[in-house]
Amino acid sequence: RLVVGVLALQGAFAEHMHYLESVRVKGHSVSAVAVRTPEELAACHALVIPGGESTAITRVAARTAGLLPLLQAFVSDPARPVYGTCAGMILMADADGVGGGKRKGDGAAWGGMRGLRVWRNLYGGQLESFEQPIEIPALADPTRPFNAIFIRAPAVHSLVPSDAETEVVASLPAERVPAPPPADSALGPPDAAATPHVMLRQGRKLVTSFHPELSGDARVHQFWIEKCVLGR
Ligand code: GLN
Repeated sequence: RLVVGVLALQGAFAEHMHYLESVRVKGHSVSAVAVRTPEELAACHALVIPGGESTAITRVAARTAGLLPLLQAFVSDPARPVYGTCAGMILMADADGVGGGKRKGDGAAWGGMRGLRVWRNLYGGQLESFEQPIEIPALADPTRPFNAIFIRAPAVHSLVPSDAETEVVASLPAERVPAPPPADSALGPPDAAATPHVMLRQGRKLVTSFHPELSGDARVHQFWIEKCVLGR
């Protein structure tokens, strides 16, 4: 039995649980559990950080004694499989690697994806949400496009070289790529070549700037379980 936690403090967690439980892998049964306490996190093999509002997720986590440091330790441990979607991707960036927030302190992240710097809301606000079918060769049934849904999505600002090997799993077609973020004194110059990337993997870690739990298609969850969690 594979226990996959879904951080359930704020945001789109129920959908993730439903998709995770629909994933069929040989020799394993996946149970998805909601994580709101240090004890619940300690019982998990792997963790999903859902979309929502990254600042709110951190704020709520800080209210439960002991939860935030444990989350940070779990997420930044390379041996732990963690998947962050949208706000979850922001939280998996480098601790000082988040730009585009309005207030000071909006940028705090937990790590996990080494060298990842992200720009919040680069695709615009709620009204600019969009769906984009993309071909993701690494998924099962690779010629069937995955309908990626972007909601106030973050974009990759740059990837600072680290000793972690980064695999670009999916990128947007050129016409959908937002203008690169403005130069930011804290983040340094953006890397326009990295902006199109919307799905990145480092070993057991995965991030997507889109919400795969709203597409009626569990192939991204299946990819994460098979490749990152089980290492197949
Ligand atoms: N814009 C949100 C943030 O900054 C992320 C949006 C989402 O998760 N759909 O946290």
